[in-house]
Amino acid sequence: MSGLPLQVREATGADELIVLEPGRSPVTTIVTLASRIVTDAQGQVPAWDELPAADVGAIALTIRQTWLGKRISTDTRCPNPGCFERMDIAFEIPAYLAHHCPQPQVGVRPGHDAGWFEFAGAHKSPRAAVSFRLPTIGDLRAALAEADPERCLRERCVRPSEVSADVAGQISRAMAALAPSLTEAVTVECPACGNSHELHFDPVRYSLAELRDAAAGLYEEVYLLASAFHWSEDAILSLPRSRRARYAERIRRERAAA
Ligand SMILES: [Zn+2]
Repeated sequence: MSGLPLQVREATGADELIVLEPGRSPVTTIVTLASRIVTDAQGQVPAWDELPAADVGAIALTIRQTWLGKRISTDTRCPNPGCFERMDIAFEIPAYLAHHCPQPQVGVRPGHDAGWFEFAGAHKSPRAAVSFRLPTIGDLRAALAEADPERCLRERCVRPSEVSADVAGQISRAMAALAPSLTEAVTVECPACGNSHELHFDPVRYSLAELRDAAAGLYEEVYLLASAFHWSEDAILSLPRSRRARYAERIRRERAAA
């Protein structure tokens, strides 16, 4: 995470529809939602497409924290055949984000053009002629719309775009250190058999699944308020969701008592 402090406002039903109704990639869903409900500390809307691509996961987790709290608690089954014990996974979002702060990268220096990097002390090696910049959210969204996203990212962010597999690996490692991705393996130890397992945690997909579950009551609440008060769908969708939930709860109690 580039360390941008973010403010998230409470969602309305119209915001919740962004996560409930499919048709966008997970990255585009988070950026579309963020552009409606997230601002920087001064209340300004950041230029989302110019932020580092690695920030998408942090933005997703920040929205998740505001809507549902900072503690992530989930479980999975031990993949060890014959064990299959339940394994709990729990951590807090602020600690997870702090753990993924950018690290200074030895062997990389700023290049001639702003935002570009090159390898230091690389004379005569194939790395000497290479420069690169960190993919932005805009690069990531453009790449995801292409048949070959990796090639698209390379053409945008690496000069020259054709490099050996060895150099490509060095660029990837340098990029990962300069802007740590939040998508990574989390090591969990099984309480029954004691084996350690590497589990893949994708904060964008994980946060979206939870936001979707939390918004699942939207359609029923719109129906309850529309049938009780005869308000328009637009008017109901523009309510903050906590207020909408209170009205819906009131209608449910009245109908249960009738
Ligand atoms: Zn086990």
